[in-house]
Amino acid sequence: MSDHVLVINAGSSSLKYSLVDAKTGEAAATGLVEQIGEEQSHHVHHGPAGEFNDDQAVADHEAALEAAVRAFETHGPALADVDIVAVGHRVVHGGDRFAAPALVDDELIAAVTDLVPLAPLHNPANLEGIEVARRLLPDLPHVAVFDTAFHQTLPPHAYTYAVPTSWQEEYGIRRYGFHGTSHSFVSGQAAALLGRELEDVNLIVLHLGNGCSATAVQGGRSVDTSMGLTPLEGLVMGTRSGDLDPAIHGLLARVAGRSAEETDRALNSESGLKGLTGVNDFREVSRRRAAGDERAELAFDVYCYRLKKYIGAYYAVLGRVDAIVFTAGVGQHSAEVRAAALSGLEGLGVRLDPTRNTNNDQIVSTEDSPVAVLVIPTNEEWEIARQALDVVRG
Ligand code: AMP
Repeated sequence: MSDHVLVINAGSSSLKYSLVDAKTGEAAATGLVEQIGEEQSHHVHHGPAGEFNDDQAVADHEAALEAAVRAFETHGPALADVDIVAVGHRVVHGGDRFAAPALVDDELIAAVTDLVPLAPLHNPANLEGIEVARRLLPDLPHVAVFDTAFHQTLPPHAYTYAVPTSWQEEYGIRRYGFHGTSHSFVSGQAAALLGRELEDVNLIVLHLGNGCSATAVQGGRSVDTSMGLTPLEGLVMGTRSGDLDPAIHGLLARVAGRSAEETDRALNSESGLKGLTGVNDFREVSRRRAAGDERAELAFDVYCYRLKKYIGAYYAVLGRVDAIVFTAGVGQHSAEVRAAALSGLEGLGVRLDPTRNTNNDQIVSTEDSPVAVLVIPTNEEWEIARQALDVVRG
């Protein structure tokens, strides 16, 4: 029996796809269509016969998925031969309606549409991807897998903001958390690496990519997480500020005449590492820092200091920590970030092994470290495929 799931991640101007064996995580093919709707688009497809590129203009998401289906037919593997069991869709915001993945039907589409005000950039694109895929692949079950679902186990004291209660009732203002598929996947891998049952371990998981988030995971359940109502809160990210004083909005409105939308855009797209250095790519920040650039040095310090504060906070939340887990682009590759964020935490039982850390080993703590420090590659596509398969197989 085939266990292949077509995983689709539709962004506002991109469509990423991956044909994944949900049992092994092996991708039979992956692809990305970018700059959808622009004069020139870019489509790259990796299949069994190698990489294929196409720069023809792709007008919309429907055309993008058609191009993907064509690429499967031309460059392989042919979708009909693979016997796909489901299409798994990444959906960013499931609000407090979805604590688990769910089969796509008209009711789910209406519910995700209701959540658009909470994720105006992401949910419309995700919905577009779902609708197009349902039209082009009508005979397959479609499953929505939510970034927020893993964090629906947060207790009220962790998800409630200290604002008038009516704001939560009327506008849904509370912490939801994101990157849930990654935190869930990495937690399972970490427990396996420790040779323990997930139910028995407490973890601090740090997803450090372009977007960054920290999660306190107690026995496999998320009990606190750094992203909030939107993916803006928490750690310093590539272009997002993370935590700040909400009075900034009012001040900029008064002294600079900036609208709420302008400030929102700046905090999401022009802040974080980009705001501090002009570039959002961590590798470039590292290069500049190594060359003695003071702005890059400060950005690095701000980034790592915020990380350390969250590690300390989640240590207090969990009481006992079995492992601190680093994942995603920066987490998996930057020994200097891991070293800086964990420096001075020996008193909490964290002992980093400098050689293992520099080598990006899976276990980068010393043998006798009471708290293990792990480097685990995330695989959101595999997690989406697994969750989609669970839904269709019951
Ligand atoms: P992701 O969103 O997981 O793809 O992560 C993207 C981020 O990881 C970017 O800021 C990259 O600069 C960063 N990154 C990727 N490779 C490395 C590396 N070898 N060292 C440091 N940062 C890296």
